Amino acid sequence: MSHELRVQAVSQVTDRSPLPTKVPQRLEALWATDVFTLSKMQASLPKDVFKSIQKTIKTGEKLDVAVAGVVASAMKDWATAKGALYYAHVFYPMTNATAEKHDGFISLQSDGSVLTEFSGKVLVQGEPDGSSFPNGGLRSTFEARGYTAWDVTSPAYVMETDNGVTLCIPTVFISWTGEALDKKTPLLRSNAAMNKAATRLLKLLGNEDVAPVNSSCGAEQEYFLVDAHFAHNRPDLLLTGRTLFGKSAAKGQQFDDHYFGAIPERVQVFMQDVEEKMYRLGIPAKTRHNEVAPGQFELAPFFEAANVASDHQQLIMTILKLTAKKHGFVCLLHEKPFAGINGSGKHVNWSVGNATQGNLLDPGDTPHANIQFLLFCSAVIRGVHKYGPLMRAVVATASNDHRLGANEAPPAIISVYLGSQLEEVFQKIQKGETQSAGQVSLMDLGVPSLPIFPKDPGDRNRTSPFAFTGNRFEFRAVGSGQSVAGPLVAMNTVLADSLTWIADELETKMAGGADVDSAALAIIKEVMDKHSNVVFGGNGYSEEWHRIAVEERGLANLRTTADALPVLKADYIEELFSRVGVLSPVELESRFDVYSEQYILAIGVEAKLVVDIAKTIIYPAAVRYLSELSSTISSLKAIGIELEKETAEKVASLVHSMMEYVSKLSTALSKHDFESTEDHMQYCAQTIRPLMDTVREYADALEGEVADDFWPLPTYQEMLFVK
Ligand code: ADP
Ligand code: MG
Repeated sequence: MSHELRVQAVSQVTDRSPLPTKVPQRLEALWATDVFTLSKMQASLPKDVFKSIQKTIKTGEKLDVAVAGVVASAMKDWATAKGALYYAHVFYPMTNATAEKHDGFISLQSDGSVLTEFSGKVLVQGEPDGSSFPNGGLRSTFEARGYTAWDVTSPAYVMETDNGVTLCIPTVFISWTGEALDKKTPLLRSNAAMNKAATRLLKLLGNEDVAPVNSSCGAEQEYFLVDAHFAHNRPDLLLTGRTLFGKSAAKGQQFDDHYFGAIPERVQVFMQDVEEKMYRLGIPAKTRHNEVAPGQFELAPFFEAANVASDHQQLIMTILKLTAKKHGFVCLLHEKPFAGINGSGKHVNWSVGNATQGNLLDPGDTPHANIQFLLFCSAVIRGVHKYGPLMRAVVATASNDHRLGANEAPPAIISVYLGSQLEEVFQKIQKGETQSAGQVSLMDLGVPSLPIFPKDPGDRNRTSPFAFTGNRFEFRAVGSGQSVAGPLVAMNTVLADSLTWIADELETKMAGGADVDSAALAIIKEVMDKHSNVVFGGNGYSEEWHRIAVEERGLANLRTTADALPVLKADYIEELFSRVGVLSPVELESRFDVYSEQYILAIGVEAKLVVDIAKTIIYPAAVRYLSELSSTISSLKAIGIELEKETAEKVASLVHSMMEYVSKLSTALSKHDFESTEDHMQYCAQTIRPLMDTVREYADALEGEVADDFWPLPTYQEMLFVK
């Protein structure tokens, strides 16, 4: 790699023009054309078969094999008419990836001819034979292989790629003995558990007609776009998704001129293409805009049932990456691709509700509805307080540590933001300001007319990792490249646990003669007495909060993944998941194994690359410059011109220091004997990462000294501002 390649990249990027825009199609004409929707099923299936599958989708029960055969045949006809030759069971392993196993519809006949074939059995169940996905020892403990099974609540679709058209079937991935090897199974279980607990509570509160309760999710996806010409000259971006080196550009995000600014034309054409693909796949893209950092953008679909939203999130990440490639960009979903400017998160908006009571996190119009709302809110508060470290653990990855542990939104301390109005309501209940003359007076509280809590537009609220935003909670600590399933599992699980506790309390109090409303208020008060320490409305970035949170409020500040992941092994977490029926102890342990392994691997790869790039790209450039500089100095000296030597000395000293730390890092990387996985993770966090940072400091300082026409790596300025 030489400086010429860099210059070439700049001119190639400048010469680029947007791909031609397609003639825009009407949304109705695009919508869900690539999805085997309920209405398509209705049109193509016999009435009784359709009724049966519709029921299965609603209840999530197992699909009848006879029914599956008819559905499979209709699905195959639909997909092959769209050009599909292959089908794939799509599943979501414990990595944040999406995995697929492709099979042909082809069936060879005895006379040598071929037919397309797709049986009910194949639709319902598949075997990702011989695939090796990290499983934390689960499959080796139990069975050699796992199988995939169609999740009927998530519709099948066709995906068009360079490889042709494929029928995709969203599936769970389980071992033969029933252990969850994926991220979908626990999500479905957590939703079922939450439904059970919520239904019980809703009935206790006097609701007679209670439809199944489901969780919903709308995830805002932040991402960066970098031109492929630049990315291809940055081995760090290509291999790790982030820049391991790079001096900040003179201009960063300080002008705030990128946020909601005009979207560059090439990006706009890219976005249109992404949206068209999303619409065809029935993914309701809703908002798009520039984000705070230069080169950063956001896309948010309209919220959907959590399970479907989670599958769609995975598809969105795939579509973003594939479409970016087509448009000559590389889409970075890393949480911190560039130092010194904002990173990318995935705000997970989450609520629970059903067809009869509506959104249970929406303040209602009547006192009774409001009590119900406050109880559901209390359940969240209690859950996030009791299991805060779990909420931190489910967003713990090597890459997300750059956001959560650093001075960036949101902090690693998990607190709940309610907004001043709602916080006040809770405080009043806690202080008992709701009781007058032995009677519950909801009027005093203003409960009958609880306002529709407005979204707090202030920056203040943006510093909270877990914020109430009017009719839902927004979990902001989730990483941009993460699957949303883990965070959703955690939220549903802690909610199920708290709702069960509340229902137990309510039953006891009512059996003792209390009426529903006063029993409910007493419970809310108790929740606040025990758990209000987690409620925080101030600035989550401030040093003051870091101190208060830990010293006065007893909240955990788990800065790194190495600190956070061991939470998954704690007894109280194991008990929670077993009690609620979401993950068995072995399943939970396997998750610890997989996630910690990924953390260690990620840092290992980065560290090796730091050594390589420093030695083979930066060092040569710096010494070449130094050599030119010193020969110039001596030849000038020969004719009596004395040039300052500071620059040469500084470059020499920076090169020396950089290489000193490169060799320290290399030595550190050769250590392989660790007492435990926990020790190994701490070593990565405490020893490897700081050494990498130090190498970078010297290298970035060199970038500020070495002549620009010697510098081989595309700079921050180029990558962020040249489009
Ligand atoms: P902001 O950037 O202000 O946080 P956006 O409008 O970009 O808000 O995104 C909000 C996300 O929250 C969208 O995906 C939206 O569909 C989702 N959302 C809205 N209401 C709910 C709800 N009741 N439950 C879950 N998600 C919701
Ligand atoms: Mg948001």
